[in-house]
Amino acid sequence: MRRALLAWYRRWARDLPWRRTRDPYRIWVSEIMLQQTRVETVLPYYERFLAAFPTVRALAASSPASVLRCWQGLGYYTRARNLHRAAQTIVAQRGGRLPESAAEWRNLPGVGRYTANAIASIAAGEAVPVVDGNVQRVLARLFAIRACIDDSATQTRLWQLAEMLLARRAAGAFNQALMELGARICTARRPSCTVCPLRSQCRARAEGLQERLPVRRSKRPPRQVELVAAWVRHAGRLLLVRRPAAGLLAGLWTLPGTEVRDGQPPARVLRASLRQALGIEAEVGERIGLVRHAFSHRRWVVHVYACRLSPRRRPVRAAANMRWVDRAQLGEYALAAVDRKLLALAR
Ligand code: SF4
Repeated sequence: MRRALLAWYRRWARDLPWRRTRDPYRIWVSEIMLQQTRVETVLPYYERFLAAFPTVRALAASSPASVLRCWQGLGYYTRARNLHRAAQTIVAQRGGRLPESAAEWRNLPGVGRYTANAIASIAAGEAVPVVDGNVQRVLARLFAIRACIDDSATQTRLWQLAEMLLARRAAGAFNQALMELGARICTARRPSCTVCPLRSQCRARAEGLQERLPVRRSKRPPRQVELVAAWVRHAGRLLLVRRPAAGLLAGLWTLPGTEVRDGQPPARVLRASLRQALGIEAEVGERIGLVRHAFSHRRWVVHVYACRLSPRRRPVRAAANMRWVDRAQLGEYALAAVDRKLLALAR
């Protein structure tokens, strides 16, 4: 099985930039970016990020805002904050020397068992297994595991199987091969069993179960949340606010606004929110439009209103979490994908 998988990988592996290096810093960045994110999405971000922060010292010396700016649009922003914090820890506590084993990698923020093992096996050849979403699927099918793979007992079993199968002298290539097989051949829907290098050993295929495995716990549908946002201009500038330091999209900039509960009048809620949160008196005008955005666990529907500062209450004080921004300066502010949709709509 190991020989067949490694031979297939050598022949068919995609040529990806992080596969052309053994530099642990570059592999670390790629592994963090690839969490919950597709390869095609990551590619341009990876190049840009490494051009901006070519070494762990450069990353540690940068500001959190510049790291977020480089990450904007990639989602799951806690990853960027943890990467930055981890770089600062490496410089402060290890003199800039990167960890050399999976155990050392795991001491850093944002680095769990999968990520630590992936970096250590790929960069240093350490004989440690990996189990990510792709590997879970491949193993569940290879061994025809009918138990729910979200259960902790099944997770333990999957890690044991990955450890047992591991090609210890080529751990990095083997781990990547297993993940590549899950991404390219043993896909969630319609696995390409006829061209799979493991087809003769696969129990799911033998039993005709490949499309029914793995078994997953059914997910709750994402909750829909209604929000209102204000497009406020004053002296040719647009009002942006920074989200709180914790929570969804923490620290990123957006239009001011708030959540609206069922039955609440949106314009009144927005006016009250501007007054209470920012000390701004504004007249809420027409609705410019609506933006929908899906996160993994919730769906936002954001209604955007054109607002005018009330003539009685100008100028507006500038709180630390708000800025009046020229159009030309917008690029200096880290915005999430949903906020770029809001700005595009209002323009
Ligand atoms: S034979 Fe099919 S189900 Fe089995 S590992 Fe290969 S692609 Fe997956």
